[in-house]
Amino acid sequence: MNPSKSLNFENTEKAFAHLDSKQLKKALFLFQTVGNVRLVKVGKVLVQLALKLRIPIGWAIRPTVYSHFCGGESIDECHKTIETLDSLGVQTILDFSSEGKESEPELQATFEEIQAAILATKDDQRHAFSVFKVSGIAPTALLEKASRDFDAMNPVEKDAWKRVNHRVNALCACAVECKTPLFIDAEESWLQPAIDRLALEAMKKFNQGENCWIYNTVQLYRVDRLSYLKSITTEGDQQGFQVGVKLVRGAYMEKERNRAIELGYPSPIHPDKQATDEAFNAGIHWCLDHLDRIAFCAGTHNEESSALLAKLILEKGINPGDNRIWFAQLLGMSDHISFNLSDAGFSVAKYVPFGPIQETIPYLIRRAEENTSVAGQSSRELELIRREVSRRKSVD
Ligand SMILES: Cc1cc2nc3c(=O)[nH]c(=O)nc-3n(C[C@H](O)[C@H](O)[C@H](O)COP(=O)(O)OP(=O)(O)OC[C@H]3O[C@@H](n4cnc5c(N)ncnc54)[C@H](O)[C@@H]3O)c2cc1C
Repeated sequence: MNPSKSLNFENTEKAFAHLDSKQLKKALFLFQTVGNVRLVKVGKVLVQLALKLRIPIGWAIRPTVYSHFCGGESIDECHKTIETLDSLGVQTILDFSSEGKESEPELQATFEEIQAAILATKDDQRHAFSVFKVSGIAPTALLEKASRDFDAMNPVEKDAWKRVNHRVNALCACAVECKTPLFIDAEESWLQPAIDRLALEAMKKFNQGENCWIYNTVQLYRVDRLSYLKSITTEGDQQGFQVGVKLVRGAYMEKERNRAIELGYPSPIHPDKQATDEAFNAGIHWCLDHLDRIAFCAGTHNEESSALLAKLILEKGINPGDNRIWFAQLLGMSDHISFNLSDAGFSVAKYVPFGPIQETIPYLIRRAEENTSVAGQSSRELELIRREVSRRKSVD
């Protein structure tokens, strides 16, 4: 790590040093493909149909989107990725990406996978954080009920809630034992009050003294989240616990807006992208101004927000590698941000999703959709990959 180096997101040599020419061409093909909105729409329908009809599609997905966006089917299969990231100064966040489980045995199995991923970080500096989604270990209907009216849960639901509490508590305790901070991902707004409640209890319990082990996630596309961030900071001040937060913009915008229209309540999402961007950047300012109480991670692929945070860190005379401030991106996305930030000495980690191919499909569909030309991300990735392909040709 070299904090004296200046930050340059345009450096494609650094951004793609982890890909050999064959892998780079594969990435080029992939981003060209997912850049096509119609193709992604048709692909999504076909994949969902194949899943319903139980037609095996792993053979098509594994060498393409899966190998680009996921580390492997098991923790062991992720080792090569973890090693490569580490060799370039980027740490790993193992993310068990199985979704849509509802039965108790399935939820328990997911809990065990997450616990194994946390245990895998013990005494291994290549891992920056662990992570989990509460909906992976709790029935969605229960989370919704606990969010809507916690006190109205019936005895059976209360019993199920106890199991959820127990699982969350066990994962947090395991993370503390392994000395690896733990992110709790944010989800849909109708599930989030219950998640916030669990996260706050865990922060109060485990983030004592100087320690910050538990991080809740704040989605700044929501109109109410900046004030939430401020209120938990005050609570931390008053009750003497450290506040851990992962700042993100938010992944469920369409779903949120559609539900609000359907059920006739005001959308919880900012009216436009600019308002979300302003809220995200205000979140960065807030966290930096309260570093005595807050440790945080900017989970973003946005160049402006990443550059803003990097600039503010340097302007404030904070060590770029300060352990209270992290940048994070997803595997296979915005490598120009991750690897150029790490090269300039900042603390950077990538989510490395893993899990059986079939079970990671919802995650992969979200990545494909996020990377269509409508969302704008793929054109930037494409441009940079193309530039690196030409640069390599010119030096050959
Ligand atoms: C490490 C990491 C962890 C993450 N964890 C979570 C998580 O726990 N929970 C979660 O929900 N998401 C999570 N995300 C996803 C994240 O919320 C965003 O969906 C994604 O990163 C795209 O936003 P961006 O900041 O990278 O930048 P950009 O690409 O600049 O912003 C895109 C985002 O801006 C917002 N936006 C776009 N258009 C509009 C509009 N018209 N009006 C209002 N807002 C708009 C949306 O949130 C959209 O996703 C995570 C992302 C990363 C990188």
